[in-house]
Amino acid sequence: MVRLAQILIESRAKMSIAKSHLKRLDDLKKDIEECEKIQESIVGLKKTKERMKHPSFPDYDLGKSHIEYFYCKNIDKDDIGHSDRPKLKKDCPGCDSQAPVLMSYEQSYDSPDGDKWTKTAFTVCECGKYNELKSTSRNHRFL
Ligand SMILES: [Zn+2]
Repeated sequence: MVRLAQILIESRAKMSIAKSHLKRLDDLKKDIEECEKIQESIVGLKKTKERMKHPSFPDYDLGKSHIEYFYCKNIDKDDIGHSDRPKLKKDCPGCDSQAPVLMSYEQSYDSPDGDKWTKTAFTVCECGKYNELKSTSRNHRFL
């Protein structure tokens, strides 16, 4: 019986260590997701600019086949405005400095029964923090 009591103690200690590693793993996964969002938005900002300069741009269906990225001009109650240059800054929750506001635009759902178009405003700060500010969707194009 003494042996089983010892196994129980060791098992609880082992589980506690494993749970702390699991928590650390979850934190690392969140860090990776945040880094991916930051990288996608910075690379995407450049790619959207290139697509808009292309001669076929007037026929180009923004947000249909790529997530498009812009600077954000304004965030209103129902809408998020885009800009081709930095216009708006918001406080970063990670370091309290001012970070430029970017936005993404995409067709987030495509079906014969109805589409969904989504705009999301967020900050990307020098401290490495991605912070979503507002997301809005509707069943037809914004841009
Ligand atoms: Zn920051």
